[in-house]
Amino acid sequence: MAPFERYIVAALKLGFSHAVFLPGLKLCCRPEIRKYCNWEQCQNYGTTWVCPPGCGSIEECQERVLGYRAGIVVQTVGKIPPHDGKWEKLCSLRQEHNSRLHALADRIRAEGCVVLPLTTGGCTACESCTFPKRPCRKPERRMHALSAYGINVGDLCKQAGLEYSFTEDIVYYTACLLLK
Ligand code: SF4
Repeated sequence: MAPFERYIVAALKLGFSHAVFLPGLKLCCRPEIRKYCNWEQCQNYGTTWVCPPGCGSIEECQERVLGYRAGIVVQTVGKIPPHDGKWEKLCSLRQEHNSRLHALADRIRAEGCVVLPLTTGGCTACESCTFPKRPCRKPERRMHALSAYGINVGDLCKQAGLEYSFTEDIVYYTACLLLK
């Protein structure tokens, strides 16, 4: 089995709803998406190493992602209750999604491959982020933010042949693991 096939099998075993390998993936970091990272529109702005300004400029992010040769797009798709428990369900699905992503990244790193995980909901590698007082505690396990990198998640899903939409009752948590 080719390494990427093993990674897809591992992703599905971990519980991701979908996992798609994209050879030669070259992400485009868009300033018009990064512009939503600001004090007024996001409570995470300026609070972690994975949000601006800690994550670097959009140009630095673009340069970083161009150093990778392929990607795996993974999704956790879940049903959301219409009223009671909606927020709790969203939070638990996001937590599960990011725990799976950590596990998958560790699994791939164990084979000697360098990976860069990009996801939704910030970095969950530590209980609290050291930004800005001390350097990142675990730079090798850092979970980068798709939004801070200016990634159009809808376009990425389309490229992977996956659904992505904002509906009332279904959530599509999406992440991308870049592979060197
Ligand atoms: S690994 Fe820890 S210190 Fe580094 S960005 Fe993530 S939460 Fe912050």
